[in-house]
Amino acid sequence: MQDCLFCKISRKEIPAAIVYEDRLVAAFDDINPQAPVHVLIIPKAHYATLNDVSAEEQALLGHVVLVATKIAGERGLKEQGYRLVANCLASAGQSVFHLHFHLLGGRHFSWPPG
Ligand code: 5GP
Ligand code: ZN
Repeated sequence: MQDCLFCKISRKEIPAAIVYEDRLVAAFDDINPQAPVHVLIIPKAHYATLNDVSAEEQALLGHVVLVATKIAGERGLKEQGYRLVANCLASAGQSVFHLHFHLLGGRHFSWPPG
């Protein structure tokens, strides 16, 4: 899946505003932000959707969530709150098929989502 957009971003072949990176994950600003803070957190390894991870990825997924909370803190969101979302497959709104989590904050979010 080396042709994948987010694989290319994680390899720096396509530019992005990277806000956090380590051996396992990368986080970068969404190109079309839906809130004042809209960061995408991805595992660097390619998994198309949430359906493609298993118990072997348990630690990786926990790491992704902890990175999201760290970025939320850095962006000053821990008091007012934030949303962490993963869309799985098209009916949930997934448009890029490399697993990613949206960290959204800086405004009020209604529930249920559309
Ligand atoms: P999805 O709809 O799959 O849950 O989320 C994909 C997200 O990727 C969208 O919010 C979209 O704006 C973002 N996106 C698509 N292409 C690019 C890109 O080239 N760079 C960045 N930074 N974000 C992108
Ligand atoms: Zn990929």
